[in-house]
Amino acid sequence: MKSLKELTRPNIHDLAPYSCARNEFSGKDASVFLDANENPFNTPLNRYPDPLQLKLKEKIEQVKGIPAAYTFVGNGSDEAIDLLYRCFCRPRKDNVVAIEPTYGMYRVCADINDVEYRPVLLDEHFQMSADALLSASDQNTKVIWICSPNNPTGNDMQREEVLKVIDIFEGLVVVDEAYSDFSQLRPLRFELPRHPNLVVLNTLSKAWGAAAIRLGMAFASPDIIAIFNKVKYPYNVNLLTQEKAISVLSDRFEVDRWVQFILQERDRMVEAFRQLPVCKQVYPTNANFFLAHVSDAQSIYEYLVERGIIVRNRTRVQLCHNCLRITIGTRAENAELMGAMRLYGHKE
Ligand SMILES: *Cc1c(COP(=O)(O)O)cnc(C)c1O
Repeated sequence: MKSLKELTRPNIHDLAPYSCARNEFSGKDASVFLDANENPFNTPLNRYPDPLQLKLKEKIEQVKGIPAAYTFVGNGSDEAIDLLYRCFCRPRKDNVVAIEPTYGMYRVCADINDVEYRPVLLDEHFQMSADALLSASDQNTKVIWICSPNNPTGNDMQREEVLKVIDIFEGLVVVDEAYSDFSQLRPLRFELPRHPNLVVLNTLSKAWGAAAIRLGMAFASPDIIAIFNKVKYPYNVNLLTQEKAISVLSDRFEVDRWVQFILQERDRMVEAFRQLPVCKQVYPTNANFFLAHVSDAQSIYEYLVERGIIVRNRTRVQLCHNCLRITIGTRAENAELMGAMRLYGHKE
């Protein structure tokens, strides 16, 4: 791996971060806070929240097994994705490499930050080739984006290929594990101590059922986390989200039950979907959704919208022509989708 100094944008390396009141005093024993121009009334909303979210990170350590020094939390994974560009990629000079197709935010954030985005097509099984990703990279490639299980294809990337990229690439390798709770593979965050160039993304938006509170995590070496902390907005996660995230993370048994249900229901749905005349193929999935190749994605999409059922039409995505991405819902929601699908093509 290159040194972090080489990888970091020079202006970020030299940055003197804003020092907020809650940073300058972080001792435990004070009881009179007259330092932040807060209103003394309206407790507890009157106080600025902890900028480093330490109570939340302790809870994350209990649940995810990763210490606070290795943890960044932000306003959704999207904040961490954007920060990776802002910290490491010089606009119009550096580039990033990513599997294709994948989650759209990697490209949008590259475009916003004026950083060249180099997509590398997956193969016909939606698998990545480490060699192909590495050959697409050059001296100015700062980040390689991998998503596993991948969105929108649903499958795990082969672990040996992912590890090969991490071992050989000199820059940062980001593995987005937004869906890893649904996969049988051991989460990659446990490989962090062995791989200083690895960044793993997690979120409360999927298995944890808390997309509304906007809480994403990035796990990486303490040196990388220190760079994120320097660049992020001082109070990037509000008090309500920090508190709610702690309570969400306190009921992992509920989450385990949800995941078990969703996996069972997914396997049932995949089987049923495969029986439909319009279905050409359902691709293997390790996530809480599946990608289905159908006869005419656009017209099925519109037919379902007409009935108040919304799925994701991926027909314009590379390798996903005529594909719909379908999220697993409640039993009633899934039954409604299947009922509508069985009537598709019949006269009203
Ligand atoms: C849904 C999803 C996320 C979650 O993003 P948040 O901003 O945390 O809600 C991240 N990565 C991928 C690949 C996703 O599909």
